[in-house]
Amino acid sequence: MNQTSEPSAWIVGIINDFIDNSPENTLKNKDNDRAFETPLVGFSSGDDPLYEAYKDHVGPFYMTPWEVVTVTFRDFTVKPGDLTVISWILPQSAATKADNRRETFYPSERWARARIFGEEVNVKLRKHVVASLTSKGVQSVAPLLTPQFSVRISPKYGLASTWSERHAAYAAGLGTFGLCDGLITPVGKAMRTGSVVARIQAPPTPRPYTDHHAYCLFFTAGTCKKCIPRCPVGAITEKGKDKRICSRHLFPVTKDYVVSEYGFDGYGCGLCQTGVPCESRIPSKKDAGTDHG
Ligand code: SF4
Ligand code: SF4
Repeated sequence: MNQTSEPSAWIVGIINDFIDNSPENTLKNKDNDRAFETPLVGFSSGDDPLYEAYKDHVGPFYMTPWEVVTVTFRDFTVKPGDLTVISWILPQSAATKADNRRETFYPSERWARARIFGEEVNVKLRKHVVASLTSKGVQSVAPLLTPQFSVRISPKYGLASTWSERHAAYAAGLGTFGLCDGLITPVGKAMRTGSVVARIQAPPTPRPYTDHHAYCLFFTAGTCKKCIPRCPVGAITEKGKDKRICSRHLFPVTKDYVVSEYGFDGYGCGLCQTGVPCESRIPSKKDAGTDHG
């Protein structure tokens, strides 16, 4: 591949083929269920001003795509505009969502498996995308897999990481944030997301929004709020999600439960991602009055 070729379709093909056809896409349960449905893929430019804005908001430790690439390859000839951030959304399966929709306190087994073994699939996908690009002579790196990736304390937001897959997906036109902090995408909020930064120039995916809350009915219409009662520990209010309360439920409450009931070392919750109008799509105003439980 060279800088003038059209890499977007080739990259989308690599990502979709891995999820649709690889035996790696598994929840590792008795039935060997697949973890994720066919992905959505989007692209943003390494010189998108949003990346500098994220750094301004979150803190100086937040890495731009250019910083991720230069710290990895020690190649300072690269310019931000030479880079593309490839982002993907991995939709949870219908069975995983249906199971978790029925839960009221602990995660379903499939959901907990998707949190652990599904994320393993996501890690393998990141590595597969990097290996595929490398085989074509393209420098690329998955920010989450770099030694620089870590969780820090942001003056404004408390716990925050040096790279956010969800914010990369937002930049790539793949979704906007909901009251519960999840990213609402065209396939909903019950998903996992990942990204790779590559030294290619792919056309950025248009963002069909200008507001970072454009798909959440609470922010657009003052309605819905259905994620608030879905949270078993009161972490979500009209002010948003309290990360500390959520985290205290994940660890140790759900961790202990997953180990004792499902027999593997895991955790998870996702109740606010299921049984709500934005679970599997961008909600419409009439969804706010519908029962999704
Ligand atoms: S459940 Fe309703 S209020 Fe909560 S994030 Fe989804 S659309 Fe927004
Ligand atoms: S993940 Fe669970 S504990 Fe955390 S905010 Fe959502 S429902 Fe509440």
